[in-house]
Amino acid sequence: MGTQKDLHFDTLRIHAGYSPQEHNNSIQVPIYQTASFDAVSPERADRLSKFEETGFLYSRISNPTVAALEARVAALDHAKAAVALASGMAAISFAILNVAEGGRIIAAAQIYGGTFDAYKKLYPNLGVGIDIVQDINDLDEIKSLIKEDTRAIFLETISNPLSVVANLEAIADLAHQNGLPLIVDNTLATPYLLNPIKYGADIVVYSATKALSGHGSVIGGIILEAGRFNWLGGRHPHFGKPVYIFGNRNVVETFPDFPFIGRVRTHYLTLLGASLSPFDAFLILQGIETLSERIKKQSESALKVAQYLSAHPKVKWVSHPAIDNNGNKARAEKYLPFGTGGVFSFGHAGNKEEIYRFIKSLNVFSYHPNIGDARSLIINAPCVTHHEMDKDELMRAGVYPETIRLSIGLEHVDDLINDLQQAFETV
Ligand SMILES: *Cc1c(COP(=O)(O)O)cnc(C)c1O
Repeated sequence: MGTQKDLHFDTLRIHAGYSPQEHNNSIQVPIYQTASFDAVSPERADRLSKFEETGFLYSRISNPTVAALEARVAALDHAKAAVALASGMAAISFAILNVAEGGRIIAAAQIYGGTFDAYKKLYPNLGVGIDIVQDINDLDEIKSLIKEDTRAIFLETISNPLSVVANLEAIADLAHQNGLPLIVDNTLATPYLLNPIKYGADIVVYSATKALSGHGSVIGGIILEAGRFNWLGGRHPHFGKPVYIFGNRNVVETFPDFPFIGRVRTHYLTLLGASLSPFDAFLILQGIETLSERIKKQSESALKVAQYLSAHPKVKWVSHPAIDNNGNKARAEKYLPFGTGGVFSFGHAGNKEEIYRFIKSLNVFSYHPNIGDARSLIINAPCVTHHEMDKDELMRAGVYPETIRLSIGLEHVDDLINDLQQAFETV
């Protein structure tokens, strides 16, 4: 199913990557709750462990339920291959380590708090330098940061929490002119709203915890590879090294269609772990079956809530892709024609005490970190999701102390607006 390129997104999200005939005609993807698989014969075990034959041997490295999820998301994103992992953070860190190994990354400042924290606390200690670009849409700034040992550009297609839309095509062109791959975190957009590979991205990562699974019930992540980038172009010498377990072939010779994913699976997933459990893969697959309807409704409701807030006297600003600031609206029109997603932020005009009272007065919105859930969520971003940044970094990333992030769920939009209204009035 997954190979049929003429099928629409709505069909692929239900059928791609799985055929019942290969699994006792089970209509749902079965949960293969097993640590390992019968190797059948020493000869086959030998071929499997050298990656000369594809098949399942041990669930840390691959599992049929997880493989169905990988194939399904790869079909939705028009990617060559995918590897699912235990969290979005595992997906981001494995992607960055796999591309960089001893080199440097140019990375966007406007980014999920955990990702930013890793720029400082994790990568430099593991030998990966991070050059932070303050405005990801400033091509001159990106250009000024390219060094001899730069290995990739990393950004979020729609940033968390301020919903800055990246000018993907221009940034991908700049990256490719300099022999660099573009790696994007497409968590907020989801494959329903945006296909980054179409605009030149080489690697796409997701936190599947969020809208892909969509029900706040699972932690997971995924990395996808477009399959176009030349990893032997000069900036990634580690892709050309002979690997003993591959019979001294390099990773590009071993996995010609997807060397990046092949390398993540055989090096990082195999050796650091962070495997996604089959049950969690099943939950994410089930979430993806309703992705289109959920994201469509969340985008429509979020725009209505953003418009309500824009007109409210206790709101300083609203940062939403369809409400203009710094060219965001024009980029949203180009890259997000099917909707602008359910997540955005606004500045509450009150002081800290009033903001706390506002949050405590809400009844329909729940107060917790997560996004893309069927429930509507509210969080004061600087304190909870971006607490890893210091005051200067928050200011430079545009995450001001009054920043409140909303993730609009599937409730009736009038109930959400009324809930916000009564909370403003209570304060
Ligand atoms: C939540 C989030 C992550 C981290 O994902 P986890 O599944 O929580 O590890 C990464 N990027 C973005 C944009 C996120 O929203």
